[in-house]
Amino acid sequence: MSRDASAGETATVAGAADAADAVGDSGGSELVRAYDVALLDLDGVVYTGARAVPYAVDVLTEARRRGMALAYVTNNAARTPEAVAEHLVELGVPAKPEDVVTSAQAAARVVAERVPEGASVLVVGGEGLEVALRERGLRPVRSADDEPAAVVQGYAADVDWRQLAEASYAVMRGVPWVASNADLTIPTERGIAPGNGALVGVVRAATGTEPVVAGKPELPLHRETILRTGAKRPLVVGDRLDTDIEGACNGGVDSLLVLTGVTTPDAALAAAPGQRPTFVAEDLRALLAEPVTARREGDAWVCGGWTVRVADGALTVEGSGERIDGLRAACAAAWSVDSTGSTGSAVDTSGVAAALGW
Ligand SMILES: [Mg+2]
Repeated sequence: MSRDASAGETATVAGAADAADAVGDSGGSELVRAYDVALLDLDGVVYTGARAVPYAVDVLTEARRRGMALAYVTNNAARTPEAVAEHLVELGVPAKPEDVVTSAQAAARVVAERVPEGASVLVVGGEGLEVALRERGLRPVRSADDEPAAVVQGYAADVDWRQLAEASYAVMRGVPWVASNADLTIPTERGIAPGNGALVGVVRAATGTEPVVAGKPELPLHRETILRTGAKRPLVVGDRLDTDIEGACNGGVDSLLVLTGVTTPDAALAAAPGQRPTFVAEDLRALLAEPVTARREGDAWVCGGWTVRVADGALTVEGSGERIDGLRAACAAAWSVDSTGSTGSAVDTSGVAAALGW
């Protein structure tokens, strides 16, 4: 048990140790100094719909001032980088079009690697995809009769049966099929709506074929971002475990989970292996601070005033203090057991977040 737990400790605190190493003796070890580029998710991290997330404007402005490069990485393939940057600037967030990396750009690169230069590519989706294809020297077309050498599919609000049918005709001929992303849902002001993954599912059902997926958590978008930013020590910052954080794990880079979006403290505690962040924070202010992670003490995990133990497949919580520190200790405890498979089943984390004051 203790040996298994130590293995978990190593995995959990490795990012913090690396972060401290990277700073050398030149000053503090804030995340902005330890990592050269923040790969920021947008929805739930920088903005929520039409509004900036609390602290985002001030923190990102200050992070840039302190020398951290910012890249905005989005699975949304409908909008162009120009349109995304314009929206960010309207909110007061520092951004230029070249700071934005979209799944459309990643999808276009994947397509370009599979077809001859200048080839026609059938587009299901919006302007973001068309612009990204042209950037790669490819020719967007809208009909399967135009002999496309590939199909690229992304979300747009006006995707209809006709477009999905054109995709099916082309896919059935055996040309490469690339999806910008596979998100099943998108949040709208009126509720949950079908995302690109659901529309991809229509073509999949009709053709019995699987697309190559470019967006998070798959690697092409991460690779696109590294290529465009030249990041040496990137830090992925996201609000979703199954896209942002899993994407970081797939890319082998550190990640910061912020709780300003879709992930609840309960969901963080129950994170599956491969979806566990290096750091957990309430919001983006963590970028300007030294990283805080739980430490192992005997059979317990300790952070701030909190002590968390694993007993009989459940967590016991003692102490008081900042609730985010309690969550960090509880996550480290829960993940240490599950990640080593020593119990054969996930730790029961129900009620833990409430006990910590969430
Ligand atoms: Mg998000």
